[in-house]
Amino acid sequence: MTQTPQLSDGNLWLHFTRTDDWRGPRPSVPILDRGEGCYVWDTEGRRYLDGLSALFCVQVGYGREEMVEAAQRQMRKLPFATNWGTAHQPAIDLAAALAERFPGDLDHVFFVNSGSEAVETALKLARQYHTANGEPGRHKVISRNYSYHGTTLGALGVTGLAGARAPYEPLIPGHHHVPNTNQYRCQSSPNCAPCDLMCAMAVERTIVAEGPDKVSAVFLEPVQNAGGCFTPPPGYLQQVRDICDRYGVLLVSDEVICAFGRLGTWTGAERYGFAPDIITFAKGVTSAYAPLAGAVFNHRIADALSSERGKMFNHGATWGGHPVSCAVALANIGVFESEDVLGNVQRNEDWLGGQLRELQARHEIVGDVRGTGYFWALELVADREHKVLFTPEQSEQLLRGFLSTRLLELGLICRADDRDEPVIQISPPLIADRTILGEMVDILDQVLGEATKRMQNGHPGKPDHERTMPTQPEGGSAL
Ligand code: PMP
Repeated sequence: MTQTPQLSDGNLWLHFTRTDDWRGPRPSVPILDRGEGCYVWDTEGRRYLDGLSALFCVQVGYGREEMVEAAQRQMRKLPFATNWGTAHQPAIDLAAALAERFPGDLDHVFFVNSGSEAVETALKLARQYHTANGEPGRHKVISRNYSYHGTTLGALGVTGLAGARAPYEPLIPGHHHVPNTNQYRCQSSPNCAPCDLMCAMAVERTIVAEGPDKVSAVFLEPVQNAGGCFTPPPGYLQQVRDICDRYGVLLVSDEVICAFGRLGTWTGAERYGFAPDIITFAKGVTSAYAPLAGAVFNHRIADALSSERGKMFNHGATWGGHPVSCAVALANIGVFESEDVLGNVQRNEDWLGGQLRELQARHEIVGDVRGTGYFWALELVADREHKVLFTPEQSEQLLRGFLSTRLLELGLICRADDRDEPVIQISPPLIADRTILGEMVDILDQVLGEATKRMQNGHPGKPDHERTMPTQPEGGSAL
């Protein structure tokens, strides 16, 4: 009798996961088997509340028959056709649906398969736009420190995480990184009182320093994930928009995480009332029932790429806008609207924020709570009064040696991450009600209490031999 293949056989290689967590006789990563609503079960039958929506993407939860049926119908009718020399109705319908729901004149949709490809697409759209306008010298790109924008070499250049970039340098030249909107540790005006928007002015300074006629685009997330939910101070996004306009630079809102309800609106641009030239999206567009991503762009760009006979966007991907994925995305939009998923987030976001702030009040270890919608982070500190960071050793012991393990033991998937300061990232499915959110908060409450005691006793983590579950390494899964 042949045996069931095991992760420990070493055939499957995991993404952004320390090899010592899964190579060897006793891998510590859970092997997930099935899902229902906001919960998943592993192959041992253990149940977890998915407080990360897989990776910020299972917006409408698991086990949705609507999505399965949409995929089956499309597979039976026409399993595949390209958007490359031909077109198909699911892609046409989905592009129209996105144009209707994305703000302003963001009416043109180019489909690809992943967030990284969406960022590559935006990089190329911007370059070709400038070339079409007689400015081929505009190739530099500005993005923010600690941001994550993907793994392909162009997107990795946009990414501002040194640890993710280092093994692959030299990267494509011309990428420059500016301060993000970390209000908790802002050097210029702590806690924005009053906020002088130095972070926006840094964008302008960099454009001027690099040569305004050389800069193609500014990339940013409305709420930056890596580092832990850096929300924009009031006026920041509008000021960056003005700066881009002043120097003829395109503004790209990377909404691979923020779009499709994570912030309680279809897009982060809508949530914060600013007008990017391009929005990149992925993850939530299908609630992760099928891979799909893309870039939505405005008339300016569309006109520049099509004004002359024979012109085209010189870019494509075989699977881009796969008909099955497009059919699933349309079903997903149907669920969002029939169940008022955005309304659910809007009704609960303040309550969830309040619950997390209560955790902060109860546990000394929580230095900051930040976020919006169903997208939150708790920053952990060694000394709250003085915002003192953990040493790298303490951080390693706390996150890797204790928190990640303990959260999983108590049945909660969320992320303990230390690519900037240590944070716990929380991003539940958008259908979660207050009972489910409360269950998540209760588990966090218990774990933070235990973590605080360990820190006070000088033992932030378990001894090495007791480690079982993994966390994310620096430069690791920023997704
Ligand atoms: N941009 C952002 C903002 C992301 O968070 C991610 C990954 N989550 C990406 C791009 C890359 O997406 P993917 O992993 O689908 O390539």
